[in-house]
Amino acid sequence: MRAIHDPRQSRHDPKHCLISGKVKPNREQPERAARLLAGARAAGASIEPPRDAGLAPIAAIHSPEYLTFLQTIHARWQALEDASEEVIPNVHPARRDADSYPASPVGQAGWHMADTACPIAAHTWDSAYWSAQTALSAADLVAGGARAVYALCRPPGHHAFGDLAGGFCFLNNSAIAAERLCAAGLRPAILDIDVHHGNGTQGIFYARRDVLTVSIHADPAGFYPFFWGHAAERGKGAGQGYNLNLPLPRGTGDAPWLETLGVALARISAFAPDVLVLALGLDAHEADPYQGLAVTTPGFTRIAARIAGLGLPTVIVQEGGYLSEHLGPNLTAFLGGFEAG
Ligand SMILES: [Zn+2]
Repeated sequence: MRAIHDPRQSRHDPKHCLISGKVKPNREQPERAARLLAGARAAGASIEPPRDAGLAPIAAIHSPEYLTFLQTIHARWQALEDASEEVIPNVHPARRDADSYPASPVGQAGWHMADTACPIAAHTWDSAYWSAQTALSAADLVAGGARAVYALCRPPGHHAFGDLAGGFCFLNNSAIAAERLCAAGLRPAILDIDVHHGNGTQGIFYARRDVLTVSIHADPAGFYPFFWGHAAERGKGAGQGYNLNLPLPRGTGDAPWLETLGVALARISAFAPDVLVLALGLDAHEADPYQGLAVTTPGFTRIAARIAGLGLPTVIVQEGGYLSEHLGPNLTAFLGGFEAG
């Protein structure tokens, strides 16, 4: 399988985030990309750099003020008196619809950053840009006839809304890829199997019926992202019925996970897409530090084979999956299962 990656994605090196009120090391580490690269190579993937498709396909998903914010906020933050090295918000608009867009860097950080897990440093924009370009190049190859292409995207993207970073994510790579496929005249479905609900992706397409969004994840009743990912969220307006959330109890293992995948695949088949964007988080693994679900390494092989069984051209976009000795092998297991399926 062809795989896309750019080493500039490793320049983003976030230091901290708050977990239950305590300052902890940020888990979205550059080492993830190294482990995932090794896992892709072990599956026989050839790694290619992305082409630069420019800002326009990113701006098809993200607002102008948000893109300006991502590109300029670090330098503006450094001009504040006694500022931290990383941009981390400490104040947020309580009711975004009724509030005014602020001019100050502190206010804009609160406006555009949902939580403390997505600190912005000097190289964040560069890495997020090349992560998005990686997804775009994979989408272009699939639109051009490739059966499946793996986009090794880092930082990940599925928690990013059109104007909001969150949960390690800045640019929504899966959404950007799906929109690129729409622009090529295709009808994409997005299946998100990260342990966390793909709230940004859901939010971006929530009122649309031309892109189906389906997510299998740990129940947000007690798990990030808390405010989204519940089964009752089905879409709105023209998009009513075109979002499907399949939350699972904490600790769910392979057999019930695969049963739920059957529900997801049936909905996708009914939508009759031309192409699939697979938001591939590997953090549903039993040894992932987040401990949300309990998929095994052989389980990822079976999951991949079932998804490949749809027979759809597929853009595989890397989302989460955190440092453990299993991260690379889980990707190897997944890509091997996909090719066999
Ligand atoms: Zn995740």
